[in-house]
Amino acid sequence: MKFLFSFLLLPTLAQAFTLNNSIGARFKEKEVNVRVGMNPTPCDNVDLDEVSGLLSEAMDNFWNKVSTSRLELKTSGSENTGDDNYWTGELCLSGGACGGTPIPAPNDIIVTCNKNTTNFPGGSSLLALTLPNDISGKDIKGAVVLINDTNGSFGALSSKDKVAVIAHEVGHAIGLGHSEESSALMFYKVVPTRTNLGRDDRLGVTYLYPVQVDLFGAGCFLGTISTLKSGDGDGDGGGTNTFWPTALMGLLLALVFKRTKKET
Ligand SMILES: [Zn+2]
Repeated sequence: MKFLFSFLLLPTLAQAFTLNNSIGARFKEKEVNVRVGMNPTPCDNVDLDEVSGLLSEAMDNFWNKVSTSRLELKTSGSENTGDDNYWTGELCLSGGACGGTPIPAPNDIIVTCNKNTTNFPGGSSLLALTLPNDISGKDIKGAVVLINDTNGSFGALSSKDKVAVIAHEVGHAIGLGHSEESSALMFYKVVPTRTNLGRDDRLGVTYLYPVQVDLFGAGCFLGTISTLKSGDGDGDGGGTNTFWPTALMGLLLALVFKRTKKET
């Protein structure tokens, strides 16, 4: 009977988080900078000064709250990136075929607006696109979050929802994919007025950035739950890069979000 109970209980405790890529890439450093890339020409529909003001809340109310994760997302307001391609370029991997996205400074996540219709076809209802676009082996060196500047969808959100959307996109930037748990920030739909991470988000960020607790003098790690396929997380940098499917899921997220907003 005891065995049967355990058997029934286990599936409900399983994690549902996914990774943004098949190689389990993550930032190597404990501290990662999240900055707003300021546009010398103001965005058409996105207020980057407002985004800059929301950045600390987005990090501190979500990813910086996980005691079992070593990751510390540092916000330093905004910086003038001096590169027009952030807000006009196509989002793609470093060295990829499109070659349109600048590479952030090492250990940086740049958040900015973008009005390239290849990223946002037809002005789509996509709220934002995120891509760790500078990767070396299993290390993410830099990532870019592009808020859709082709329409006013992001600007029409409440302040709390903007914070949650920024935090969700940064979740992709640090290596997480979508979760099937509706309680998770990384759920594929945006749930209005979300203010906390879910259990699944905490498991995901702890998996990628476990705090090292040397309980027995042997370097034990907390939260090392394996979701990687065998042979695909062995540190050789192998595996097929699958960042674009996540970007496409972002489109789904935005579409669902729009529908949800209409219903409420
Ligand atoms: Zn997403």
